[in-house]
Amino acid sequence: MGFVSVLTMAQRLVAERLGSGGLAVDATAGGGVDTLFLARAAGLSGRVYAFDVQAAAIARTRARLAEAAGSGEALAKVELIHAGHERMAEFVPEEAHGQLRAIMFNLGYLPGAEAGVITVPETTLAALEAGLALLAPGGVLTAVLYPGHAGGEDEADAVAAWMAGIPATAAQTILYRFSQKPHAPYLVALERKTVGVASQSP
Ligand code: SAH
Repeated sequence: MGFVSVLTMAQRLVAERLGSGGLAVDATAGGGVDTLFLARAAGLSGRVYAFDVQAAAIARTRARLAEAAGSGEALAKVELIHAGHERMAEFVPEEAHGQLRAIMFNLGYLPGAEAGVITVPETTLAALEAGLALLAPGGVLTAVLYPGHAGGEDEADAVAAWMAGIPATAAQTILYRFSQKPHAPYLVALERKTVGVASQSP
């Protein structure tokens, strides 16, 4: 049977935590696959904020959503935001801060789009920090990393190190990787810890 792909595993982790009516972010809209997945999972009463710095990615995502909506699917309202994910906290409305159930990153470049538009460690790490702060307790953040292309390995290493360094009081983190394939994409994820543990004593 084999283990599921990293993309499928990311979606599973999200599906288990993003219920109907939930709020979610796609940090790298790209071709819109994850945006559509989030919009389906959050359903009509949910809301999705999808970011990309490339106009072509925003257009592809818009077209994918329109096609699904056209065939009668019940989708969350999606805000397509043509800006960098490092500015996430500015674009996600204040009342949603601390309320997000899921945030998905799929790093690297968009196949078939502008060459050279690629995620880079500095803004990726800033976006991860912002994302962690926006999550609800029990919410999940996933990131698919691409160690197999130029620059991708440094970014993957930086993200994996960031995940490993998060205090256990703030989140639990995991790694899903095909260990015989060191150059293949892999997944890291975190689940925001429930806050208020200290106040549970006597
Ligand atoms: N590597 C994946 C696709 C990743 S798409 C695959 O092979 O399927 C990554 C997307 O991130 C691209 O559409 C790119 O435009 C976008 N991107 C790059 N920098 C970004 C940033 N700072 N904020 C938001 N999106 C960004």
